[in-house]
Amino acid sequence: MATLILHPGKEKSVLRHHPWLFSGAVDRLEGRARPGDTVDVASAAGRPLARAAWSPSSQIRARIWSFDAEDVIDHAFFKRRVAAAVARRKSLPELDGQHGLRLIHAESDGLPGIIADRYGDTVVLQLSSAGAEKWRGAIVDSLLKATGGTRVYERSDLDLRSLEGLEPVTGWRHGQAADEELVIEENGVRLGVDIVDGHKTGFYLDQRDNRRRVAELAAGRRVLNCFCYTGGFSLQALAGGAREVVSIDSSGPALESARRNLALNPPLDAGRAIWLEADVFGELRNLRAAGERYDLIILDPPKFAHTAAHAERAARAYKDINLLGLQLLAPGGLLMTYSCSGGISAELFQKIVAGAALDAGRAARIVQHLHGAADHPVDLAFPEGEYLKGLLLQVD
Ligand code: SAH
Repeated sequence: MATLILHPGKEKSVLRHHPWLFSGAVDRLEGRARPGDTVDVASAAGRPLARAAWSPSSQIRARIWSFDAEDVIDHAFFKRRVAAAVARRKSLPELDGQHGLRLIHAESDGLPGIIADRYGDTVVLQLSSAGAEKWRGAIVDSLLKATGGTRVYERSDLDLRSLEGLEPVTGWRHGQAADEELVIEENGVRLGVDIVDGHKTGFYLDQRDNRRRVAELAAGRRVLNCFCYTGGFSLQALAGGAREVVSIDSSGPALESARRNLALNPPLDAGRAIWLEADVFGELRNLRAAGERYDLIILDPPKFAHTAAHAERAARAYKDINLLGLQLLAPGGLLMTYSCSGGISAELFQKIVAGAALDAGRAARIVQHLHGAADHPVDLAFPEGEYLKGLLLQVD
């Protein structure tokens, strides 16, 4: 096995159990390794530290599989790690039995570059690193064993893969598509999931708890759901007894899915739902000009900053929509606002929203800090895992 030797002092992050080794930390590779091969990681002084997957074309030159320098990285290793990730979910009552569930949350489950989401008996796998790519077979097998799932679909079509020198790949890895539409139940609401063409692996599972929160808050309120995608928040608002739910998305197909999802839930009153195909930035201005007011506004935009380098432009976009959202709130109204940009920290996000409130001339208080659901855990040694942060605010 080849050995990756770090520059002096660069072992510190490894000793703190951070799983990434950036190019600047790496002095040299002794021996030969192909992309995805397992390498030993050693300090400049030759101290063995860890075992990692080598990825020569990525700025993240290696992703650590194990901080035990003697751990054997083989099929059995993945079987153990995958089983442990699945068992963690089973041990939490709010996750046990969920139809839609993230089974593997990459680095935070000790499996860098590997995402697996379960929708009923279908598991959707997403591999984004050279190391993960190498162990596809072992991962699929381990998932089938740990879940008793009957089919595995791969959605490794994220842009991120190009940074690792990988092409997009998709397709069935075990079993085949079911005849009927894939439908999950979340907080008592039925939702169709398009694992082939939908975003991410088909659905935004990370917002499960926050959608339930919307149901708790919606009774009698006029709700505006921006960036509604397939209607996850909108349907929960209707289920919670909202007076009216206006939902905006720029994607026609997403709105079509949202309408279909509403039809899957006959008890919900479709007469209270309004779907607008529009750009949120422009539509919020139209609504403001028309003098509209809402009691609960949800802002769950796509990732505005893909890396820290885009943080400034993203900050302006977050400020803009939050300013407009705050201006559209009726007295005593609630704003539920999110950022899923890794490059924007929770602290920075709160500052941006505070600036927006100041400019909007609305005093606002934090009712609650919001996060991803428990099946999207954040390893304490890997703060980058906390990409989703939100605030529930109440204005005067
Ligand atoms: N809140 C959703 C997930 C949002 S994903 C949920 O709970 O499932 C982001 C959505 O924003 C996508 O559906 C995308 O089509 C939409 N979108 C992106 N840019 C937009 C814009 N400028 N105006 C309106 N919608 C936009």
